[in-house]
Amino acid sequence: MPQTPARVLIIDDDVSTIRLMADALSSDYEVVIATQAEEGFVQALHSSPDLILLDVVMPDMNGFDFCRKLKADARTQPIPVIFVSALDTVSEQARGFELGCVDYITKPIAFPILLARVKTHTRLYRQTLQLESLAATDPLTGLANRRKFDECIQHEVARANRKRCSIALLIIDIDDFKPFNDHYGHGKGDDCLVRVARLLRKCVGRATDTVSRLGGEEFGVVLPDTDVEGAISLANEIITLFNEEKIPHHYATQHDYLTVSIGVGILDDSKLGEASIDPRSLIDVADEALYQAKENGRNCSKMQVLQPLSPTGIVSNL
Ligand code: GH3
Ligand code: MG
Ligand code: MG
Repeated sequence: MPQTPARVLIIDDDVSTIRLMADALSSDYEVVIATQAEEGFVQALHSSPDLILLDVVMPDMNGFDFCRKLKADARTQPIPVIFVSALDTVSEQARGFELGCVDYITKPIAFPILLARVKTHTRLYRQTLQLESLAATDPLTGLANRRKFDECIQHEVARANRKRCSIALLIIDIDDFKPFNDHYGHGKGDDCLVRVARLLRKCVGRATDTVSRLGGEEFGVVLPDTDVEGAISLANEIITLFNEEKIPHHYATQHDYLTVSIGVGILDDSKLGEASIDPRSLIDVADEALYQAKENGRNCSKMQVLQPLSPTGIVSNL
């Protein structure tokens, strides 16, 4: 697949140095520049560079301090940094590496060396991003995979504990999927899973919500900052969509089309008090609610509210 050219952010207070580097790089890279550290940080945040070429001696902020700031912020931490500086002692270069740079180029700049190192590190960074994305994606549906789901729920539950806010989890399981596969074949079963994933994506609108394939015909939706009403309304929307879509399934027990059952697990911020919850307990209540939805005849959702202070972890079954 053709890739867009890598983007290189040059941060240097000396305009003539910027011009020389930009001229050397501009035929193969998209070049973004900043002449001040503050402006450079804004560019690092918003222009998604694949590499930063960073001067050390600048009037508003020392490049070493600037690098420390980049590495302390989760949004800019992964971006590789190469120092480009006239400070050329071993201890100065070592300090740069200690702060997390991937390389150190001394001025006066040897341009073939600059080009070679920029090529190496932009390639490595792009490859790392690709691998990370592959490791987080379910290959069949393109949704987040189980690994990503585990990471996401850990992160969001920790955030809910910290910010004292609500969080909901939907576990969605296709009804009678075994007979679907048995009668239509595994290939059609796979096509159906892709279609289900597309429908779920269509329903789940907010950028902070994550839809994952947990495995087989089971999907999870993590809904940060979502209260009981919001979670029930989304679950109902999903159930309704499948009843409207009517994906043919002549071997289902209730209807002649595909339906889903949904277990909704909720941590309501009003119940949180001083307590904290762990992701496992939220998954457990959503699982329990899913079991009840299946028992209730499928094609419906059930909810369980997590009560962190109660010994069972469950306060009510609505
Ligand atoms: P229930 O209504 O109780 O959920 O019953 P079910 O038949 O959906 O559930 P069961 O757990 O008995 O069977 C799940 C089936 O899902 C088994 C298998 O045929 C199918 N399945 C699981 N993973 C995949 C997959 O990756 N591709 C395809 N095509 N089918 C899968
Ligand atoms: Mg300078
Ligand atoms: Mg099922």
